[in-house]
Amino acid sequence: MSLNAGGNKIRPEVSGRLTIDLAALRSNYRKLASLASDAECAGVIKADAYGTGAEAVCQALSQEGCQTFFVATISEALRVRSVLADVSVYVLDGLPPDCADLFAAQSLRPVLGSIAEIEDWAAYCQHCQTCLPAAVHIDTGMNRLGLSAKDIKAIADRSDLFAGFELALVMSHLACADDPDSPMTEAQRIAFDELRRMLPAAPASLANSAGILSGQAYHYDLVRAGVALYGGRARSVQTNPMLPVVSLDGRIAQIRHIEKGETIGYGATFRASAPMIIATVSIGYADGFFRLLSATNEKAGATAYIGNYAAPLVGRVSMDLVTLDVTDVPADHVSRGAFVELIGSHNSVDDIADLAQTIGYEVLTSLGTRTERLYVGA
Ligand SMILES: *Cc1c(COP(=O)(O)O)cnc(C)c1O
Repeated sequence: MSLNAGGNKIRPEVSGRLTIDLAALRSNYRKLASLASDAECAGVIKADAYGTGAEAVCQALSQEGCQTFFVATISEALRVRSVLADVSVYVLDGLPPDCADLFAAQSLRPVLGSIAEIEDWAAYCQHCQTCLPAAVHIDTGMNRLGLSAKDIKAIADRSDLFAGFELALVMSHLACADDPDSPMTEAQRIAFDELRRMLPAAPASLANSAGILSGQAYHYDLVRAGVALYGGRARSVQTNPMLPVVSLDGRIAQIRHIEKGETIGYGATFRASAPMIIATVSIGYADGFFRLLSATNEKAGATAYIGNYAAPLVGRVSMDLVTLDVTDVPADHVSRGAFVELIGSHNSVDDIADLAQTIGYEVLTSLGTRTERLYVGA
């Protein structure tokens, strides 16, 4: 049985592993919290903590003093509650019909995103004679969720609505904060200030990860850190200040010697121009290693690493396998059952995202559905 850097045992039957460095995650949290200075730093752990495992991440962040968590759905909120009894949990997708009971029973906080949701929550609180906390989401340019300027004006004078529940947070969400040149970020901040003044006074929140990196004006009372916690690049033009959290490795299933002229994989998109040694590795697009990372003779794809040796992908990524050119890797590094790095110190999540024409968020949230998760640095 092999050991990884953290000394954890890796069972021989594990074909792919996603390693999650909780020490790096915690360090990223501390960094974001210190950047946010006086604002509280909340953890956004929707989509199973961006694919890294909600329970483990909640516990690690809570050890750093994180008191507030944001999820997308109620089922995600229940998973936070199952490991952390006393933290605030906000559900970003809002209050679906007939769910107020569940929110109240589990002490969850809806992020109310329409007049109808505010009315429902206020009515529920009145019905229970309890002033329960919730956030109100003001839309300043996304047009997905949240009250429009017109909605805010329509309810500004309805003190009946706001008397019934605790307005624990007023928030909005930035559309373009990843782009430091976008004028929209500042325009949204101004709109947020204008609109939130029409509501009863409450703590305010505007910044996602990119907003945290955009400066103090965006921090308000609470910031919502997501992708940067997990080592992702939040802003497009600056070196990423966060530590990588995730690495992906797959095991070599077979090593084959092929002749000049033979083809590799589906569609026969790669043909050997000379004899080659191919390592077939047990990771594929079903593990979140996108098909767009494939290589043809004309176009290079992703590169895997065996130690510090580059092993370029050849041919298509299939569901469960990738094929690597290991002709130039010293033979003692290429053995059946050995692990090969697909994402890690040589290839960041964002490098892979760029190659696959997507964003680090999609890479992160696609990983780890089948691979074994290994937590280190706990
Ligand atoms: C996902 C999300 C965040 C976190 O965004 P990152 O860019 O991952 O930091 C913050 N706020 C809202 C409303 C979100 O949906």
